[in-house]
Amino acid sequence: MSGRHEKEKGVNVQVLLRCRPFSEEELRNNAPQVVKCNEYQREVAVSQNIAGKHFDRVFTFDKVFGPSAQQKDLYEQAVVPIVNEVLEGFNCTIFAYGQTGTGKTYTMEGECKRSKTGPNGELPAEAGVIPRAVQQIFDTLEGQNAEYSVKVTFLELYNEEITDLLAPEEISKVALEDKQKKQLPLMEDGKGGVLVRGLDEEIVTSASEIFTLLERGSAKRRTAETLLNKQSSRSHSLFSITIHIKEATPEGEELIKCGKLNLVDLAGSENISRSGARDGRAREAGEINKSLLTLGRVINALVEHLGHIPYRDSKLTRLLRDSLGGRTKTCIIATVSPAVHCLEETLSTLDYAHRAK
Ligand code: ADP
Ligand code: MG
Repeated sequence: MSGRHEKEKGVNVQVLLRCRPFSEEELRNNAPQVVKCNEYQREVAVSQNIAGKHFDRVFTFDKVFGPSAQQKDLYEQAVVPIVNEVLEGFNCTIFAYGQTGTGKTYTMEGECKRSKTGPNGELPAEAGVIPRAVQQIFDTLEGQNAEYSVKVTFLELYNEEITDLLAPEEISKVALEDKQKKQLPLMEDGKGGVLVRGLDEEIVTSASEIFTLLERGSAKRRTAETLLNKQSSRSHSLFSITIHIKEATPEGEELIKCGKLNLVDLAGSENISRSGARDGRAREAGEINKSLLTLGRVINALVEHLGHIPYRDSKLTRLLRDSLGGRTKTCIIATVSPAVHCLEETLSTLDYAHRAK
């Protein structure tokens, strides 16, 4: 959304497009490339051949990141200003939206399974948005003369049920099934937000702790996945960072700023698109992806300035209610593959993301 547009409509939704590089397998198979990115023009062109005729569809976004864009490029160009807002006391949300296998988790978490910060605290090149945001937050806070606290939560939403990815409990099939029965309840907090009762909040005191937390959360997600035979492509993960900063005004008064950053790795978009519905997964998709569908409606309602915003229709939008709309900033990173075999899903991702603008 252009600056002018943003002011006129008073909505703060930014939509970015990222196209991943070819995978080794796609390279081996000489997969034709159907997506071309023009970062400078902020355009993505998709080529199609229909009945022997060649068509190009071109989509424009707020920013476009092609296959050679590095994690650092995307972070510096798109996320730094959002984290600055959070440090000023606002709530912001970043979503990764796209087909399974197009780089949502790579973008949000990065390849940090084996990663560690370097000797001077520098991040590996593959580190994604979450570790970089945590680093930026601590770099800023440590350079200020104010008291602060940083807390994180990490949860998974599967089939409208919430699982705590940080809770230090035993992971067994029985424990997990028990947990699914007594899922963590959502409650209104009386201040326009919601609380997840029983959700672990971890206090983080330095950026280097983030990899341990991410690894713990992802390990739990993987175990639960294997034990309960579910696919991570159908679940959403929500990593939230809450910052409290206590400052003294020049008059000696105390000022508390509280900001929250939500980082959401959404379920694979194929779960709501046409091909997902066609091959018999429609019923499941309807049940499981209420949150994905409702999110689309909420963002549409915000962008279109509709009177009623259907936050209450899904768990994900209830969880994010205090961080979507109003003075908050929202950023959607739509991810696509460059290859022809993903063409249909790529087009539906581009259409969805484009509608959010
Ligand atoms: P998703 O979470 O959308 O299902 P992943 O993040 O797991 O997709 O990415 C699928 C594969 O592609 C992973 O092996 C990942 O490392 C790789 N990948 C995705 N995006 C990029 C990128 N921009 N650069 C390099 N590799 C990437
Ligand atoms: Mg993923």
